[in-house]
Amino acid sequence: MNRRALLAGNWKMHMNIAQAVELAQAVAKAGSGCTDRDVMLAPPFTALASVAQALQGSNVLLASQNVAWEAQGAFTGEIAPPMLTDIGVRMAIIGHSERRQIFLEDDAMINRRLRAALAFGLTPVLCIGETLRERESGATFRVLEQQLRGALQEVSADRAEQIVLAYEPVWAIGTGKTATTAQAQEAHAFLRGLLADMFNKKVAETIRILYGGSVKPDNIDELMAQADIDGALVGGAALKIESFERIIRFQ
Ligand code: PEP
Repeated sequence: MNRRALLAGNWKMHMNIAQAVELAQAVAKAGSGCTDRDVMLAPPFTALASVAQALQGSNVLLASQNVAWEAQGAFTGEIAPPMLTDIGVRMAIIGHSERRQIFLEDDAMINRRLRAALAFGLTPVLCIGETLRERESGATFRVLEQQLRGALQEVSADRAEQIVLAYEPVWAIGTGKTATTAQAQEAHAFLRGLLADMFNKKVAETIRILYGGSVKPDNIDELMAQADIDGALVGGAALKIESFERIIRFQ
């Protein structure tokens, strides 16, 4: 199955509006010749509307870094799905390890966010991944299965087909340590098998599985050469056009 590559930049809590617009314009220019792959940017909430305008007419997809599970209401500090679609956001990162670890989001909460995103027409980019302790104790697959099943509770096969999955080993995020291509491919193949088991073969073969964790210009080509790696979710290296452009242009 030929899945379209997706190169995604997560800007986390970086960039004021002027910096965000400048980088978004540079990414739009860099991605303009790339017709065989998708590019996604996830700026901080404060820059989303300005970046949406800057990306008009380009093929770069706009994502939020999280999304609430209700359409409106008393949820101080949260942003509702219709508020995002209203300004042109198409995708939403959900369950990033920083949300899980620092803000204590659990699988049940992530499941609510994911189902709301789907219901309101946002494509979820669901992040899962094990900690170093879990990997070293041999619990990687058990943890991945628990996170995947937890996030996709009560999601139908039709809906599941629309999500993007990101495997992000926590020990490789922002640490400069990348999983070896063999470790990444092994986890991706495991996840694809699990999706076939949870839904069906078509869902498993349709869903794009991104790798995230210290992706850089010098490891992107090797990662993208793996059968089950369909793209990358990039943090640090997405903040500079030189490195992100090279990642977009993986060979
Ligand atoms: C991330 O934030 O999802 C990430 C993978 O960060 P980095 O590329 O900096 O490790």
